[in-house]
Amino acid sequence: MAQSAMPSTQVQEPPVPLRVPVREILPWAVLAAVLGLALLYFVGAEQGATSLFSGTWVHEFTHDGRHLLGFPCH
Ligand SMILES: [Zn+2]
Repeated sequence: MAQSAMPSTQVQEPPVPLRVPVREILPWAVLAAVLGLALLYFVGAEQGATSLFSGTWVHEFTHDGRHLLGFPCH
């Protein structure tokens, strides 16, 4: 209904380009990448010779995720 009230001779302005503030997003993107890589390491490689923590508690904690993502396990 709002568009029908506008006069048909109104000139439309060109669309304003979307501005992405890269300088504001970059630190959060780096943080997300680091956390994602750490999570990927713990799910995919924290076992055996590449293990950072002794014991199997990290392996057991991420065990279902490992199988879900198709990483080799046992
Ligand atoms: Zn397994």
